[in-house]
Amino acid sequence: MSVLLPLPLAGAYDYRVPSDMNVALGDFVAVPLGRRKLTGVVWGDASGDVAPGKLKEIAERLPAPPLSDELRRLVDWVANYTLSPAGAVLRMAMSVPDALLPPRPMTAYGLSEKGRVALDDLSVMTKTRARVLQVVADGAPEPAADLARRAASSTSVVRALADAGYLAMIELPRRLPPDVPDFRHAGPTLSPAQTEAARELCEKVDAGGFSVTLLDGVTGSGKTEVYFAAIAACLAKGKQALVLLPEIALSAQFLARFGERFGAPPVLWHSELGHAHRRDSWRDVAEGKAPVVVGARSALFLPFPDLGLIVIDEEQDGSFKQEEGVIYHARDMGVVRASLAKIPIALVSATPSLETLVNIEQGRYRRLHLPSRFGVARLPEIRIVDMRAEPPERQRFLSPPLVKALTETLEAGEQAMLFLNRRGYAPLTLCRTCGHRLECPNCTAWLVEHRLAGRLQCHHCGHSETLPPLCPHCGDAKSFVPCGPGIERLSEEMTARFPDARLGVMASDTLTGPRSAEQLIRAVEDHSVDVLIGTQVVAKGHHFPLLTLVGVVDADLGLEGGDLRAAERTFQLLHQVSGRAGRAERPGIVLIQTWMPDNGVIAALKADDRDRFFALEAESRKAHGMPPFGRLAALIISGPDDSSADLAGRAFARTAPHLPGVETLGPAPAPLRLLRGRHRRRFLVKARRDINLQAVLREWLGRVKVPNSVRIQVDIDPYSFM
Ligand code: ADP
Ligand code: ZN
Repeated sequence: MSVLLPLPLAGAYDYRVPSDMNVALGDFVAVPLGRRKLTGVVWGDASGDVAPGKLKEIAERLPAPPLSDELRRLVDWVANYTLSPAGAVLRMAMSVPDALLPPRPMTAYGLSEKGRVALDDLSVMTKTRARVLQVVADGAPEPAADLARRAASSTSVVRALADAGYLAMIELPRRLPPDVPDFRHAGPTLSPAQTEAARELCEKVDAGGFSVTLLDGVTGSGKTEVYFAAIAACLAKGKQALVLLPEIALSAQFLARFGERFGAPPVLWHSELGHAHRRDSWRDVAEGKAPVVVGARSALFLPFPDLGLIVIDEEQDGSFKQEEGVIYHARDMGVVRASLAKIPIALVSATPSLETLVNIEQGRYRRLHLPSRFGVARLPEIRIVDMRAEPPERQRFLSPPLVKALTETLEAGEQAMLFLNRRGYAPLTLCRTCGHRLECPNCTAWLVEHRLAGRLQCHHCGHSETLPPLCPHCGDAKSFVPCGPGIERLSEEMTARFPDARLGVMASDTLTGPRSAEQLIRAVEDHSVDVLIGTQVVAKGHHFPLLTLVGVVDADLGLEGGDLRAAERTFQLLHQVSGRAGRAERPGIVLIQTWMPDNGVIAALKADDRDRFFALEAESRKAHGMPPFGRLAALIISGPDDSSADLAGRAFARTAPHLPGVETLGPAPAPLRLLRGRHRRRFLVKARRDINLQAVLREWLGRVKVPNSVRIQVDIDPYSFM
C-alpha cells in the first residue's frame, strides 16, 4: 500500500502490510521513515517504485476513525489545484497528531469510607489535609490538580491522603462529549422573506446533493436566522454542519446567539484555541460527536464523517484566503468539498464577491435574496464628507461635520463607532530635521508606532524596537514626529475633544484574546462604552442596538494600493462597517470622510447602488481578462540576498511559457521587496479561462532548477499582490 505522510514530500510512499495486519484506505498508520516513526494515512495501492523485497513494513494501525474518501479526495484536489505537495495539504487535515491516540482515562479522587469517618474529627489532621478532605466531601470526584487548586494545597497532599486510605482513586472517562445542539428548539418567527429563503435552503439540505446557494441580504436582514434554520434541518437528518466565519476568535456575540437558538454551543475551531481543546475537538469531529462546528478557514479540513451542510458567512472576506504554506481560498475549496461530499453549501453576504456574483449570473449558483432589514430597522443614511471642503484642523483627523455628528449622538445618549483600518498610533514616524523614516530592517516597510506598548512595530514580520533617542541618520535628539493617524492617535483626539465620553478601542493587537474581545463587546452592549474605535475587526457582524452613528475616518485608505480588488474590497468593507449603524429602532447615519468624493467606490456607497458598482467592476475585469473572467497566478521567488533572487528571477524569465492565451509579467521586484529578511521577485501569469493554468505552471516549474536557498511560492487566484 502507499502511505501519505503529512510532510511536504513529493508524494505517497510504498509500505508492506504485515501479514497479521488489516488495513484499508484512509486508515491512520505509523510507518518508519529513515530513523523516525511517523503517522500517515493509507492512500492507495503501492506504486511499485520500490522492489517488494525492499519495502519497509507498516508498524502499526492507529485506533482512530479512518480519513473519509471524501476528505482524501479533497486533499488531492487542493494539492493539485494549488500546486502544493499532497502531504502539505494532508498536514492541515491532521493538524493535531495526538488526537489519533485514544484519549487517556483520567484519575479522580473521591472520599473513601475511612475518609468519611475522618470527617467527624478533622482536628487530628494537618490543616491542609483537612481542607482537601472537606473539598472532596463538598463535590464530585476530581483530578488531583483540581482538588489541590480548590483546597489551596498541592497534588502531593492529595496523593498522600490516597496512600493513607482517606481518598479512593476512580477512573473517569477523560471528558464528556460536546453538548448536542437541539434542532427541535424553536427559533424566532421568521419574516416572509426569511421564511421563503429558509424553506429553499432547508429543502436543499433535506434533498442532499451538491448545490451552491448565495444568501444575499442587506446588513441586518436576518441572514443568520435563515441559515440557522438550515442547520436545524441538517441536524434533523442526523448530519453534521460546518460554519466558517471570519474573525471567529472575536465572535462571542455569534456564539451566544447560536447557544440561544440551539440550547447548546457549537464546537469551536480556530488557531487560538489551546492544544488540548483542539485535540478533543478534532477527535469529536472524527467520531461524529460534534454536530455543528463553527470555525476559521482551517476547519474546512476537519475529518467530518457525515457532513450535511457547509455555510460560509461573509463569503467575500479576505481572511478566507490563506497566504502561507498551502496557499488556498477556503470559500472556493469549501465549494469543492461540498461537491465531493455531494451536499449543499451556502455562501452568505451583504456584499458578495464579484466571483460569486458572476457565478450567479452564469447560472452556476442560486441566489436567495433578503431585500430589507428585519423588523422596523431601516438602512442607515450615508453622507459623504468632502475633506477638501471641510478639512480637520492641523494634526487632527476628525472633520467638523463628523465632530458635530458625534456631539449630537452623545448628547442623545446613543453610541457611535469610528472606523479606521490602521493599528497603532501613527503609520509612519519621521525625523523632523532630516526627513529620515524609520523602517523595518527585515522588510520594505515603515515601522508603526504603538504608543500604548511603547514600541515601534513592523506589521509584516513582527520586528519591534523602542523609539531611538537620536535620529540614526542626522543624530538629532527628540526630532521624531508621527505622521498620520492610527486608532491610538484617534482615541487621543477623541479624549481631547470629548473628555467625558467612554471609549473602547478594538484592534487585533489591543485584544489579548477571545475573552478581552468578549468583555469589550459586552461593554458596548451594556452601554458602558459610548464610542467604539476600531479597525476592520469592528466591521464584522456585531449588532449594537444603540449604535446610530458610524464615522469612516479615512475611506481612501484601501484604495491606495490600487491592486486588482482594491475597489471591490473597499466597497465591501465600508458597506459592512456602515451596516453597523441603526440596526434597531433608532435610525442610523454614516459619515464617510474622503479626499476623493468622485471616486467610483465612494459614489457607489453614497448612492447605495451595489449592483451598478459591481456591474462596472465586472465590465472592467472582463475587458482586461482578469478574474473571474480569466485565470491568474502569482509566482513569488525569494532568496537570502538580492542577487540570488535576481538570478532565479532571470532563470524563470528565460523559460517563461509562450503559449497563446497565456501572458507572463515579470520578474518585478515585489512591492514588499524585502520581507522577513528574504529578497523577493514576482511573476504574474494571466491565462484565458479555458487554459489549464496549473499544467502550464507545473511544466514551467519543472524546467527551472534553483538552489536550495531559493524558495518558490505559487499563488493561484492571488488576492495579495505585495
Ligand atoms: P444579518 O446576518 O443579515 O446581518 P442578523 O441575522 O444578524 O442579520 O439579524 C439582525 C437582527 O435582527 C439580529 O438582532 C437578529 O436577532 C434580529 N432578527 C433577525 N431575524 C429575526 C426574527 N425572525 N425574529 C426576531 N429577530 C430577528
Ligand atoms: Zn518587518
